[in-house]
Amino acid sequence: MPRIPEETIQQVLEATDIVDLIGRHVKLRKAGVNFVGLCPFHSEKTPSFNVRPQQRTYHCFGCGAGGNAFRFLMEHSSITFVEAVKRLAEQAGIRIEEEVYDANAEREAKVRKALLKVHEEAVEWFHLLLMRHKVAEDARAYLKSRAISPQTAKDWQMGYAPPYGDMLREWALEKKFTENLLVTAGLLARPDEDSGRRDTYPRFRHRLMFPIRNEFGECIAFSGRVLDKEAKAAKYLNSPETPIFSKSRVFFGFDKSKRAINKADRAIVTEGQLDMITAFANGVENVVAPLGTAFTEFHAKKLKQISSEVVLCFDSDNAGYKAAERAFTILAPTGLSVKVAPLPQGEDPDSLIRGQGVAVFQEYIGRARDFFDHMLDHASANRNLSEVRERSRFAGELASMVLLVDNNIVRDAAVQNIARRLNMPEDEFRRQIARAHRPSSTPSNSAAPAATQPSLPPQDRNAIMLFRNALADEKILNWLRSTGREEILQDLSGCELLALVWKSSANLAEPATLAAYLSQVSREEEVAVTKQLSLPMPEGGMEAAECALENLEAARLNNLLQIVQTHVKQRSLAPEEMALLQERELLLTEIIRLRNTLQNVQRQVKQPELPTTEMARLQEREQALRKEYLDRYEQLQKFLGPTAP
Ligand SMILES: [Zn+2]
Repeated sequence: MPRIPEETIQQVLEATDIVDLIGRHVKLRKAGVNFVGLCPFHSEKTPSFNVRPQQRTYHCFGCGAGGNAFRFLMEHSSITFVEAVKRLAEQAGIRIEEEVYDANAEREAKVRKALLKVHEEAVEWFHLLLMRHKVAEDARAYLKSRAISPQTAKDWQMGYAPPYGDMLREWALEKKFTENLLVTAGLLARPDEDSGRRDTYPRFRHRLMFPIRNEFGECIAFSGRVLDKEAKAAKYLNSPETPIFSKSRVFFGFDKSKRAINKADRAIVTEGQLDMITAFANGVENVVAPLGTAFTEFHAKKLKQISSEVVLCFDSDNAGYKAAERAFTILAPTGLSVKVAPLPQGEDPDSLIRGQGVAVFQEYIGRARDFFDHMLDHASANRNLSEVRERSRFAGELASMVLLVDNNIVRDAAVQNIARRLNMPEDEFRRQIARAHRPSSTPSNSAAPAATQPSLPPQDRNAIMLFRNALADEKILNWLRSTGREEILQDLSGCELLALVWKSSANLAEPATLAAYLSQVSREEEVAVTKQLSLPMPEGGMEAAECALENLEAARLNNLLQIVQTHVKQRSLAPEEMALLQERELLLTEIIRLRNTLQNVQRQVKQPELPTTEMARLQEREQALRKEYLDRYEQLQKFLGPTAP
């Protein structure tokens, strides 16, 4: 993986306005110095998602999501850290000098770049052919027959793939694209036995071409629609999977429609690309279409990030019903509310809009039914629900679907609705759900766990106190690092966050530095740190920090003593092992005793109105005790070695 220098990472983070960045995806409202909105990572009705411009971080009190601007992009757009840095660097106009140390990654990046270039050029070429070339007359006639205006063809950069291989080859030659590259891009296919060809040949021939773009508008593949009515080939042919294209990870048109979906808080899902284009061209812009029938968890996650409701607008035949059912099982577990808008028999969005106008289509969308009502409607028309056994079987099917709903309120409403419509006591239906919930049901059908954030083990109270004070005040941070007592961290649990600030040498009391530092820690740690940052500033300052460190040290010593004592009780120990343990036990007991005495004396020294002679005596004693304590402590450290258990 290419590595980006740390200075650049920090520079990019400093140049990024986190409120502006997150505000593009989440509606934010100002609250004091911070901003709040509905969390894009879990389903909620009241905002618990906080963005803190001063700390350059975000945190959700509901689901615990949190981190810096990179983390937000990574989780929200499902991209890698390096991609997130690059994207923000680009927006901030910062050039990234990568320290490339992985030849493989470099090669992959090159291939990616070359493939994007081929696609970009091919889009233009296909489009030009469609609009101007005489070879594309059939294609233009087809557009006309589907009432697709030249403007729409231009907006979507539709194109035409000619039937002859030599045209493609001439173009490639002119553009200096190699045959190998065209094969990798999927524009050329290798000869195989079925085709009966001896040479590579164009995959798309005499087809209307739709560029398939990723979320950022880059063309990464093509979908070609057959023009020859007699042809036996598939109606739609997509590019094969390539290093830049995976069918299960892309929505057709999402780059254009995601903003409208976010704004409407609702996504209309159509089956075909033309459905999507026609709806979009007619002003219904919150539409997407998966490529083919494959609806994946990736698609569901994408939609969930920017909206709370999905309206499935599939064909009203049996295949459409099945497709809706499948889509529901993938969408519901993400917390999305799923509705179905059945169109009149034999119509799809494209034909309906062209035949009856967009207003009629919008009416159908407006009348979308809750998914369960849709299922009930379909069943009452197609199944004999007056028969007890059939009704009970259907209730069982519904029960396993209800389980998928990742929202208690929605689920409860569905339960009541279903019981009422099936004329069934609610309790009985609930029992059926409980039965369906048993692990014996197939794993793919059981409810997916709600999205949870990874988390650290519970943190020690004193460690957190120290951690928070160190982040709040540079003086405390420097003092902590100068104490030279890091060994405390080795023998205590729940000190992960404290270890983070202690072991780093960066000035983490500076918010911008801390935000950048978050990119170097694990996701669990990033989430935990941002959670701490979201709490009110710690009180107590240096005094509280010193006290917390003392407490930690005491806890560590007691811990060590307990471990030794447990070991001593083991019967199977060899005599020399036993002797060693007993020596250690003695030493620890002595250190703890010294420590307590020392603290006692220190308390006495602080007493007001102490006679001078008494004061002098106490101070002398304190010094002697401290020296002895430190000697013993050093002895212990030697005993434990540099890597104590
Ligand atoms: Zn959340």
